[in-house]
Amino acid sequence: MSGDIDTLTLSAEEAARLLEAHELSGAELFTAYREAIDERDPELHAYLAVCDDPGGHGVPIAVKDVIGTKGVATTAGSKILESYVPVYDATVIARCKAYGLRVLGKTNTDEFAMGSSTENSAFGPTRNPWDPSRVPGGSGGGSAAAVAAGLAPWALGSDTGGSIKQPAALCGNVGLRPTYGTVSRYGVVAFASSLDQVGPVARNVRDCALLYSIISGRDDNDSTTVDVPPVELPAAGDLRGVRIGVPRELNDAEGIEPGVRASVAKALEVAESLGASIEECSLPRSVDYGLACYYLIAPAEASSNLARYDGVRYGLRTSGDDFRSMVMASRHDGLGDEPKRRIMLGTYALSSGYYDAYYGKAQQVRTVIKREHDDAFARFDVLVSPTSPTVAFPIGAKADNPLAMYLSDLLTIPSCMAGLPGLNVPCGLSEGLPVGLQLVGPQFSENTLFRTAHALELALGFDPVPARYRT
Ligand code: GLN
Repeated sequence: MSGDIDTLTLSAEEAARLLEAHELSGAELFTAYREAIDERDPELHAYLAVCDDPGGHGVPIAVKDVIGTKGVATTAGSKILESYVPVYDATVIARCKAYGLRVLGKTNTDEFAMGSSTENSAFGPTRNPWDPSRVPGGSGGGSAAAVAAGLAPWALGSDTGGSIKQPAALCGNVGLRPTYGTVSRYGVVAFASSLDQVGPVARNVRDCALLYSIISGRDDNDSTTVDVPPVELPAAGDLRGVRIGVPRELNDAEGIEPGVRASVAKALEVAESLGASIEECSLPRSVDYGLACYYLIAPAEASSNLARYDGVRYGLRTSGDDFRSMVMASRHDGLGDEPKRRIMLGTYALSSGYYDAYYGKAQQVRTVIKREHDDAFARFDVLVSPTSPTVAFPIGAKADNPLAMYLSDLLTIPSCMAGLPGLNVPCGLSEGLPVGLQLVGPQFSENTLFRTAHALELALGFDPVPARYRT
């Protein structure tokens, strides 16, 4: 029976319907994904670990390996956590399980979610299912690749500065970075706490909305969370009355590939034909200062969060003559180049004498970015731009140049800094590779993003199955 299930095209919603109608057993469905993983993952390396069928009748799900799973190693893509097995589930996992979802496995990530290509994983890169010589984006390249290649119907990712949205763009998925504070961070390996958010990665917008409804909402274990408005699953519709703003700086930024521009322009024409009003606008400082501001705040918070990996509390320990040398040796051996780079940047930015000039200043700039977005949302419901300036790039192309890699997030970072929700919806192909459209809304506007993206996805008719897997 499992041989008849085409995991490449099955949505989570359809899988749930088949289970409910008893056309499929939970075991058959789980096995179908496990077989797909056995077949295609040796090439892609989307998974760091696969799980045995926990039983039950729910839809399977893949989980980025920064999210704590009770009894299942949670490495954050780092050697220092290679042997770390959480004794509790992250709240998002507890909620998925309470809904009946079954964890298929843990997906690859840049170490501590620091990266834009998944090449920073201590366990080797993930490959893009559309073209295995290319990256799947990052840091959540494993989740995005797993969903694109039919190795999971949907997945959880985490996004600090674009790690759900950008891999979704490069792999042709729908990915939501939710409003900051709507999804619990309890049990999630912390990178930059004022930015980190868990969110859904899916094949289509309805699945994305459903998964968001499962994981979101107030959690007593994370005091930054709030109750969210009821999630509406989008139904077919037009875009009449939707006011779309097109921020000049996000759409004309240097480095946006012509093929990306063309797909986004076409999506805007389609939006207009569906009844949306489209108007250019400006976020004058968000793009100029967004990256610089992010690369002060995120490393500063990371340097503090990563101080806990000391060889005592978690994972790897390298012995040393005394306590201090043990800690140094453990961190030396356990952490890769990118976390080390960020710990150095972050501790410098936070050091006394520099704190106000760097971290303090960056916080002020962050407020400016937030206000610019607030002003734009006085006139618009949704702001659109490319998600990534480029399609998936070749493995190795930017690996030796951190600054070039950081530019991958030029367009995703400003709204993250402002705490706003952003959704990637695939809008076409360029050079045979997916192009993603980023929709950004005001805080708690997820339903508007779902509705807009769903209308667009129906009208655009993007086929999320990578061409090389189509029969
Ligand atoms: N690529 C960005 C970084 O390297 C964002 C990562 C993320 O969102 N986790 O920090």
